[in-house]
Amino acid sequence: MGKVTGFKEYARELPPKRSAQERINDYKEFTGCFTDDKLNHQAARCMNCGIPFCHSGCPLGNIIPEFNDAVYKENWEEAYRILSSTNNFPEFTGRICPAPCEAACVLGINKPAVTIEEIEKHIIEIAFSKGLVHAKAPLIRSGKTVAVIGSGPAGLAAAAQLNKAGHLVTVFERDDKPGGLLRYGIPDFKLEKWVVERRTKLMEEEGVVFKCNTEVGKDISADELLRAYDAVVLSGGSTIPRNLPAPGRELKGVYYAMQFLKQQNKRVSGINFEEESIMATGKDVVVIGGGDTGSDCVGTSNRHKAKSVTQFELMPKPPEARTENMPWPTYPMLLKTSTSHEEGCERSWGINTKEFIGDENGNLKGVRVVDVEWETDVFGRPLKFKEIEGTERVLPCQLAFLAMGFLHPQKEGLIEQLGVELDARGNVKATEGVYQTNVNKVFAAGDMRRGQSLVVWAISEGREAARRVDQFLSGRTALESKDAESMYAF
Ligand SMILES: Cc1cc2nc3c(=O)[nH]c(=O)nc-3n(C[C@H](O)[C@H](O)[C@H](O)COP(=O)(O)OP(=O)(O)OC[C@H]3O[C@@H](n4cnc5c(N)ncnc54)[C@H](O)[C@@H]3O)c2cc1C
Ligand code: SF4
Repeated sequence: MGKVTGFKEYARELPPKRSAQERINDYKEFTGCFTDDKLNHQAARCMNCGIPFCHSGCPLGNIIPEFNDAVYKENWEEAYRILSSTNNFPEFTGRICPAPCEAACVLGINKPAVTIEEIEKHIIEIAFSKGLVHAKAPLIRSGKTVAVIGSGPAGLAAAAQLNKAGHLVTVFERDDKPGGLLRYGIPDFKLEKWVVERRTKLMEEEGVVFKCNTEVGKDISADELLRAYDAVVLSGGSTIPRNLPAPGRELKGVYYAMQFLKQQNKRVSGINFEEESIMATGKDVVVIGGGDTGSDCVGTSNRHKAKSVTQFELMPKPPEARTENMPWPTYPMLLKTSTSHEEGCERSWGINTKEFIGDENGNLKGVRVVDVEWETDVFGRPLKFKEIEGTERVLPCQLAFLAMGFLHPQKEGLIEQLGVELDARGNVKATEGVYQTNVNKVFAAGDMRRGQSLVVWAISEGREAARRVDQFLSGRTALESKDAESMYAF
């Protein structure tokens, strides 16, 4: 433990951010860094708990008290070694993770949690700046080949781990650049794309081959793939968005969130796209769906200089603090005000969109909405809603984004050709911890297996699936696991 009294002496602080008025004029990240003193104080707040709940809160099993201690002692090499032993890409999670570790931090019982996510980001960026991060190609190659389908965080993590184990890994990606939603979903103002490219370049130097603009199931058949590779990891994400089949859905001006976000990331990177350009400039924008994707549409619309931005959520407004139904250390479903919300957005909860209204040319001009009230169970969980009489109204809207989550992976092509079994939700069926599908030598990880989730879970699944693939190919594995006891247990 760095400083015994640290948690009593220092308050939780976050690094400074550029003001909302300033940052909506560009797409750059806006969170600064701690000064050396501030970083030291934040690390000193860690109590090195006897039972560090932060570990179990983190899907990667990050060894948090140990790296906090190393940061406090300014032992950057040690901090980086500890952090990178469980997380291949702390530069992603340090920027965009909702930090379930912080929700589980013991300090959170009666004080604000340790700033674990920021400390993580500082460790990896300091490690890069000190030249501690470099390509480490394996000394011996196994001669076995693995195809990874999809280059999101799950595919990247699986590829990095399998390459480390000595296998020859090829990552197939249908987009023009690797990164999955890190590249073409999450906006630059949350994660600048040089951060993704810095990592994929390192992976290439380590020996991972990326084949972009290649859709498996279309450009290469599943059969060809099975013949050419000793193992296959499916990590194609959960890409089919939930629709809102209300009257007027076909109007010009109603889009899925990803149609908007993907092309904006391309625009920022100067990459051409063929689709019709969607701009929020001067428009009344309505974002339907209250999650991360919706919040990214809000931030992007404000950067386009929309006339107004409103976000609807069908569910009731969540509480601002833990209730007795969500005690520490569970992950609390609290009201989240994202940095995009801070930039300007009207937020409405308990509101249902009944109709998209168009003008004579088929352009969206308004949305018909109604307020709803929810019936809840004894734990306060919403069960069903009913409309509140007299609240139906039409709001002006020329651009609406559907951001109500994703249903399951695309079935046409890869999944159908392979004949992999799907679970009840339509995701690829492969038990957690095993990751093997019903098709011999085919494994699955990330959103394609667990359904729409988080970057940290995708990395965790990619790493754990890689262990299973390594065991399958080599009969044993020395790859690290989040479950330390299972290491070397084969
Ligand atoms: C807009 C948005 C914002 C988000 N923000 C956050 C956030 O702030 N924090 C967070 O933790 N999570 C966030 N998420 C969730 C997170 O991005 C995902 O959970 C995560 O990226 C899933 O990783 P993955 O590797 O499983 O799949 P993806 O990242 O979806 O990658 C799958 C890749 O596979 C490729 N692919 C699919 N099929 C084929 C095929 N047949 N052949 C070749 N390539 C194929 C796709 O093109 C894609 O590049 C966000 C999601 C969205 C949509
Ligand atoms: S739970 Fe919080 S205080 Fe305890 S070891 Fe983890 S980060 Fe430190």
